[in-house]
Amino acid sequence: MSERAAPFHCPYCGDEDLRPNEQGHGAWECAACSRAFQLKFLGLLAPGASGTTPGREEI
Ligand SMILES: [Zn+2]
Repeated sequence: MSERAAPFHCPYCGDEDLRPNEQGHGAWECAACSRAFQLKFLGLLAPGASGTTPGREEI
């Protein structure tokens, strides 16, 4: 398995007709709306970052 993320839907129009763009890794273009975009891996979340948020319920 490659580590490249493949989008299933265009983030702009929601179409599924996506194809890799020549710009480089993570670059995709939508045939429906003619937009090109790039996915970027920002890094792993810190432990607990996606879980509870302490203090939110204390307001
Ligand atoms: Zn699109």
